[in-house]
Amino acid sequence: MTETIRWTAAETASAIADGKVTAVEVAQAHLDRIEAVDAKVHAYLHVDADGALAAARAVDDARARGDRLGPLAGVPLALKDVFTTKGVPTTCGSRMLEGWRPPYDATVTRRLKDAGVVILGKTNMDEFAMGSSTENSAYGPTGNPWDTTKVPGGSGGGSAAAIASFQAPLAIGTDTGGSIRQPAALTGTVGVKPTYGGVSRYGLVAFSSSLDQGGPCARTVLDAALLHEAIAGHDPLDSTSIDAPVPNVVEAARSGSVRGLRVGVVKEFAGEGYQAGVLARFAEAVELLRELGAEIVEISCPNFTYAMPAYYLIAPSEASSNLARFDAMRYGLRVGDDGEHSAEEVMSLTREAGFGAEVKRRIMLGTYALSSGYYDAYYGQAQKVRTLITRDFEAAFGQVDVLVSPTTPTTAFPIGERADDPMAMYLADLCTIPSNLAGNAAMSLPCGLADEDGLPVGLQIIAPAMADDRLYRVGAAVEAGYLARWGAPLLDRAPAL
Ligand code: GLN
Repeated sequence: MTETIRWTAAETASAIADGKVTAVEVAQAHLDRIEAVDAKVHAYLHVDADGALAAARAVDDARARGDRLGPLAGVPLALKDVFTTKGVPTTCGSRMLEGWRPPYDATVTRRLKDAGVVILGKTNMDEFAMGSSTENSAYGPTGNPWDTTKVPGGSGGGSAAAIASFQAPLAIGTDTGGSIRQPAALTGTVGVKPTYGGVSRYGLVAFSSSLDQGGPCARTVLDAALLHEAIAGHDPLDSTSIDAPVPNVVEAARSGSVRGLRVGVVKEFAGEGYQAGVLARFAEAVELLRELGAEIVEISCPNFTYAMPAYYLIAPSEASSNLARFDAMRYGLRVGDDGEHSAEEVMSLTREAGFGAEVKRRIMLGTYALSSGYYDAYYGQAQKVRTLITRDFEAAFGQVDVLVSPTTPTTAFPIGERADDPMAMYLADLCTIPSNLAGNAAMSLPCGLADEDGLPVGLQIIAPAMADDRLYRVGAAVEAGYLARWGAPLLDRAPAL
């Protein structure tokens, strides 16, 4: 079954539909792969073998009955542990939620199940999605499948590492400041942050509600589109969910082309702090776009320089409010409930024990930024910067159809290197944060390996809000261009685990 795990999601679905393989065999092949390699990678926090096999059996039964199968029926998937799964542990990478089994499914979880997708388990992540390396998980770090001494990016490092190490063809991530795209870049996979409101946040444990967005992780652009289509669309349970048709991402991924398209290169995403090998691969990607028929235009977005500081006020502010719900009374951990302590003391002891250092840092930062007297100076200012960034995008999209940049300033860094240096860690999301602040759509896909370290480099494509299909049209064309050049997918060059 070794080749089964290397199939794309699209190939897997048609093999099952055509009866070449059963969904149970596909699920078992992935469970065996997890058994064989996940001790080295640590992509999963929880593997739900029984649930996966039962879901796979249901697909096989449906096929036997002659039911029409959906485009992802029987395809295995790894779900970031920030989405609720009924009866299946959901920890958000935190001690605070250790052992919590949610009483309900997130909308994303429910839609996956309805599509016949086989959920293999829950993936490792930075605690409450705060981080860029997956080192902030209370359950230990995830290794990058290209080199397990390096980080896979974060916060969704588990999801990206799972697909890069063939422990699932598909995964779900969330992107608040880059947590789908940055791990995609660092692991040589494809990750998409849909337009804000494009994918329901119901049952997605909140970090920063005005920025959080679930989205697909895959090894190919088409697979990402198929998954995007399965999870996207209006949800009355999420008041920020967009009530409009989902852009036709699958059709766009199948008809990839950039001929006649205007592509803007963001001037601000270069210079100090950018690794030479990243800039070299990015320059080649721009050349490829030109060869494929795109018109290249240099674009300046001057306010992007302030995106990071604005994000690190807005995201912690919202987090400080959202994480107030972990008060020891409702979910998970409870410390000091021995009759000796008051309710306030139990709350305080629980929060002290349950949250890790980065989460505490964010809560303190956010509480400070929102406090009276500082609100105008910090939070209010950050919101104004947010508006300026949105206007930069509006001006840019008046001139070009999509923007491109490197996804990250550097390739994967060693585990431990930035763990005690929050500022260095925050820089990993320099290029991804503006799209979260503006709410538009963005993708990362592989554009080669850096010369210095042989590690993957990501190309970021950014499209206006509600024009997610453009990402897939451009992404598919770039992917095909690289495939023609390389002769094989980039992941084929990753060392065996
Ligand atoms: N790295 C960023 C942060 O730590 C983004 C995280 C995310 O997108 N969830 O906040």
